[in-house]
Amino acid sequence: MAQNTFQFPTYFKLLLMIITTLGKIVTSLQLAEENISDKLRNDAKSLWKVSRDYGNIVHEVPAMVFHPASVDDIANLIKSSYSSPVPFAIAARGQGHSTGGQAMARDGMVVDMAALRRERKKKGVGGISVDVCGEYVDVGGEQLWIDVLNETVENGVAPVSWTDYLYLSVGGTLSNAGISGQSFRYGPQISNVLEMDVVTGKGDLITCSKQKNSELFYAVLGGLGQFAVITRARISLHPTPTKVKWMRLLYSDFSAFTRDQERLISIKALDYLEGTLLMHQGPINNWRSSFFPLSDHLRIASLITKHKILYCLELSKYYYHHQSQQNLNKEIEELLEGMGNIPGFYYEKHVSYVEFLNRVRSGELLLQSQGLWEVPHPWLNLFIPKSQIMQFNSGVFRGIIFKRNITTGPVLVYPMNRSKWDDRMSASIPDEDVFYTVGFLHSSGFDNWNEFDAQNKEILKFCSDNGIKVKQYLAQHSTQEEWKNHFGDNKWKVFVERKNQFDPRMILSPGQKIFNNSS
Ligand code: FAD
Repeated sequence: MAQNTFQFPTYFKLLLMIITTLGKIVTSLQLAEENISDKLRNDAKSLWKVSRDYGNIVHEVPAMVFHPASVDDIANLIKSSYSSPVPFAIAARGQGHSTGGQAMARDGMVVDMAALRRERKKKGVGGISVDVCGEYVDVGGEQLWIDVLNETVENGVAPVSWTDYLYLSVGGTLSNAGISGQSFRYGPQISNVLEMDVVTGKGDLITCSKQKNSELFYAVLGGLGQFAVITRARISLHPTPTKVKWMRLLYSDFSAFTRDQERLISIKALDYLEGTLLMHQGPINNWRSSFFPLSDHLRIASLITKHKILYCLELSKYYYHHQSQQNLNKEIEELLEGMGNIPGFYYEKHVSYVEFLNRVRSGELLLQSQGLWEVPHPWLNLFIPKSQIMQFNSGVFRGIIFKRNITTGPVLVYPMNRSKWDDRMSASIPDEDVFYTVGFLHSSGFDNWNEFDAQNKEILKFCSDNGIKVKQYLAQHSTQEEWKNHFGDNKWKVFVERKNQFDPRMILSPGQKIFNNSS
């Protein structure tokens, strides 16, 4: 991936780019049916905001930023580009929480979806609307999952599939998949969408579902923003649990850890299952969640010294008013009987559903207060077939990570069931019934992110050299050949056909560097 060292403000560079591309875009916009020019911004602050993302490594400056006040504005903007002799690239930007420039559009136009969110909030219509029977919620693609949660629980219902962190936009996670500890049971977020309104790369506003315009529906889900901008998603709802029993168990043996994970995801007894590594160089609690009591930190630290790596299994079971806590405890006790965890290292909490789902927020606020949220994030997220996870453990967790000794951030490891994914959707996953997600969620300094980047590359090389059929999640590829490998021959063929059908002028989401890699 092209990575530019960002020196900002480079007004001269900006000015040049603005002059060369502004003319092109303004001419195109004059073709628009409605005057949208008052929603354009090209001041340094607006450009700066959308030239960076959570990764803070890739920086691409657009020619302009568009602040839509309605879905029609987005449609008119895309139409202008589509009908222009020289189309300009357009990237919808949800929260910019990507890590590799995916929501950027060098010299093009970034649609700041947050502007639409603000506008809808001001008007009090069109943002989040729960169906009267509580079966589904209609949400704007620009809305944040935290707001979806707060609005739906007020009505006693909520979606079932989440991400670990909720300050992400609906359109942003549905463009990838949206995974978390619920995915093994309820599927990723893209498996819980009933219908969408989208604006295609031709500027057409289309409603799609499994029954209606299904090709577009499947293309957009996990489609990396390549086919359309999501402006509304209808998401299925279930009754809100009253409370959550949240547990952690520690393992020293990876095969016992994965065996127990795989058994637990094969039955429908739990609602959430994840796993993380605990290593010496990292803190015992981290920004993703603070769980272990302070009084136990020394005990856990000495176990880590002994075993080098501990594997932490994280489980949750939801419960409702009518269920007694005694029965629940008994049920869990039976479920965990015979597991291979280290005795004496079992932890539990009982928290509200909202507190559980929003568990990462307090860590974020702490990091923000210390100025550590906006550092570079050289992340690597992978999907690994179950049959190769042991090899991955010995080669990567106990090999590369040990040798380099730089990993301090959370490393996630948990399995999912392929049967909960729909292969007609664009998301690309391994071809085995069970596969793991492994997330290296690194934070680094501004001067050493490339050490993590080098580690990420070494991990990918290890996989390739050893025939581990890994797929990147939130993928960062820089050549079309790499993207072709990512999807595999058949899926790539469909992906290209869909691109030609829905965004034939290659306008949308250039930051993914799939069809319009200008770097
Ligand atoms: P952006 O970064 O703004 O956009 C991402 C891509 O989607 C771009 O290509 C953009 O053009 C496109 N896009 C944005 N909005 C739309 C739209 N309305 N229609 C069409 N395309 C659109 N992911 C998980 O699955 N599970 C997790 O648990 C998880 N945890 C995370 C925790 C943190 C702290 C962070 C920073 C990220 C996490 N992610 C997780 C990754 C996250 O889901 C993706 O990066 C997601 O794209 C972020 O959403 P966003 O709104 O910021 O998207």
